[in-house]
Amino acid sequence: MLDAFPYDYFSKKVINRAVSKIPEFKNKYSLKPSPGYENLPSAFSGLDSNNIDTLANYCFSPSQSNLRSFRFFAPILQKLPKQGLVRGISSRILRTLTHNQFIKHYGHLHFIPWNIIPYIDFSQKELLFGAKLYNSVPTLFYYLSKNNLSYEWLGYPIFKSDIAIVRSVKKKKRLANFTFIHISSLDAVSHKFGPNNKGTLLMALKVLEYTNEIILHVKKIHPGSKIILFSDHGMVDVTSYVNISRILQKCKLNIPHDVIPFYDSTMARFWCYNRKIKNKLINKIMENPFIKILDPQGCEMYQINPSEKYGHVITFLDPGKVFFPNYFNMSFETQGMHGYLEKTMQELAFLSTTDENKEFLIKNNVFLDSTNNIVWKTLFNIFQTFLFGERD
Ligand SMILES: [Zn+2]
Repeated sequence: MLDAFPYDYFSKKVINRAVSKIPEFKNKYSLKPSPGYENLPSAFSGLDSNNIDTLANYCFSPSQSNLRSFRFFAPILQKLPKQGLVRGISSRILRTLTHNQFIKHYGHLHFIPWNIIPYIDFSQKELLFGAKLYNSVPTLFYYLSKNNLSYEWLGYPIFKSDIAIVRSVKKKKRLANFTFIHISSLDAVSHKFGPNNKGTLLMALKVLEYTNEIILHVKKIHPGSKIILFSDHGMVDVTSYVNISRILQKCKLNIPHDVIPFYDSTMARFWCYNRKIKNKLINKIMENPFIKILDPQGCEMYQINPSEKYGHVITFLDPGKVFFPNYFNMSFETQGMHGYLEKTMQELAFLSTTDENKEFLIKNNVFLDSTNNIVWKTLFNIFQTFLFGERD
């Protein structure tokens, strides 16, 4: 999987020249990412985000939050400046207080404000690697184990750099029955400089070079192996920011007493203390033309579980816009973003295999949407076909 490699890169001369030398890129199709941020659980379970519950990683759950006892310290830490050394020191205090358990189990705190942390349940950010069940749903790893087939996962969190993955593959004399390789470096570069920046394109060429090196080695040690190349999403050029905290200020709402906001980069979610607060907030948000509130029809259309654990008010930005502040970036440096509800051409991912054409894929339950993009969750059916055989 080539993280953040957009389908529309194939229309660029420089990319096409590199791709034409790799036979596995012969049949290239556009692939539509699933809504929200987490695509892989859907690809490995064959279910959309509604069934596997992966719209967002961070959910409201004051009674379940592992850091609920931290509520006492939160207001004190919240008063400290957010940037610079002081944040670094307070970060260290927090780590000591939680005995490193938090980081170990749930990953980074990013820039989630201290007064929000005690209300959030971080357990949704489960690791997918090797999980036979994910949110109680059987994954591809379950079926592999059932059929006594081996599997290996090369990429985050086991490997952090692409070059380390390439080296590790090239050292191997044998591979597992199913090996998942995640080449991830393009995502960070694309976020920072935008998908059409010269440096980003150079990084994409590097990623193709790594891909080719891996494929050549795999074909050498296992000549008959099947290779599926795909990305998890593309990247949209950021055109402007939307100041979400100003909207809250205009409503004169207090955090955390009236409302708990969670600002993802392209989503803003709110848990409101009562219906009156909720309506006040909705009316103010509706004044902004770039923010869409997810209503029951939207939930149905995008197969999103309207569960209140994701927010009483769930909003998405139009493609190209980014919320500021948000809990994942502290500066205005972001030039590229993904995770929009409406998938524009720029955000489409790709799928490519050597000999399998679209008819083969459709026969094996790989669905196309109304605009002819491969539906993300049906990646699972490709994995199954390649591993357990074709459908009759
Ligand atoms: Zn990203």
